[in-house]
Amino acid sequence: MPKVSGWIYTLEGFVEGTVHFEEGHVEEVSHRREKNPLAEGLILPCFFNAHTHVGDAIVLEEPLGSLEEIVGPPHGLKFRRLNEAREEELVGAMRRMLDRMVLSGTSAFCDFREGGVGGANALLQALQGSSVDALLLGRPASLRYDREEVEALLEVAAGIGVSSISDWDYGELTKLAQHVKRAGKVFSLHASEAHQEDLDLVLDLKPDFLVHMTVASQADWQTCAQEEVPVAICPRSQVFFGRVPDIPGMLAAGLNLLLGTDNAMFANPSMLREIEFAYQVGRLKGGISPDAVLRMAYGGAKLLCGSHSITFQEGESSTFLVLKAPMGGDQCYQAIRAMETDILLLSIGPRLWLRDRGWIKRT
Ligand SMILES: [Zn+2]
Repeated sequence: MPKVSGWIYTLEGFVEGTVHFEEGHVEEVSHRREKNPLAEGLILPCFFNAHTHVGDAIVLEEPLGSLEEIVGPPHGLKFRRLNEAREEELVGAMRRMLDRMVLSGTSAFCDFREGGVGGANALLQALQGSSVDALLLGRPASLRYDREEVEALLEVAAGIGVSSISDWDYGELTKLAQHVKRAGKVFSLHASEAHQEDLDLVLDLKPDFLVHMTVASQADWQTCAQEEVPVAICPRSQVFFGRVPDIPGMLAAGLNLLLGTDNAMFANPSMLREIEFAYQVGRLKGGISPDAVLRMAYGGAKLLCGSHSITFQEGESSTFLVLKAPMGGDQCYQAIRAMETDILLLSIGPRLWLRDRGWIKRT
């Protein structure tokens, strides 16, 4: 039976051991090193990318200008490119992102997919045959509530993810949010990204989680923590627009933080890069522990209704990666400094990739 050996990630830290797996499942976990493993190093669950816009991969030029000019609906650069794109171009661009996710150790992600029902279907098409799993949050094609359109969207999507209360007429957005919640689906939106928004209005929409909250106040973060509303943060995309998220401040307020890579045109969807960057940006505001950063890379997994396990237990899906790491030292710190070429082995259910002469290859 195939096995990997070394240091196994747990929420309490890394422990020495060996994971035996077969046909897409963990068969046995022992707490000792065993001989002749397929790979040896740091053994971690695959990452959950909590916030993406994979469709933005359609933008190939350098995005110049303000947040509004680049990603603001409905006339920002990304929306112009999305509207011009042929469906096969869009599907191809998204597939490139999904491949990058897999080869950088991500097995699931939550995407805010623009473009109404057609946009959601394009992502479903891109996902066919892919190893990565998606929590697809669609959005109406325009900034208007249309009951029939939302019903059609919720047929194909896990929920709805919109831009922000600043872009919408609040009455229309309330109707949209209420519809999604009545249907028992996920509702989420960006909040306080470029300027502080009224958190009471945001929370009245009963979001399952928020995105960014970069320029929110400490009191807002505390309110989200009390209301148990998690926040997906995307440090690289925020710094792209000159804003440094205060990750230590957010954690001190008790926020449940999830890590995401955001717009595919600014930041590639590698969680390894986002993890390293989050740690470094954290130091600008007082510092965060490597362990806290790693937790964020798995926090979003709960959004997938428990289907994305982050523990190594018998019978669970064998969804993990093995990172090359020097023996000794702080394993969490080694993990957050790892890069894509340090992935020695990748298992996503029944699919397996192994590094061979420098290249990671599917077996
Ligand atoms: Zn976003």
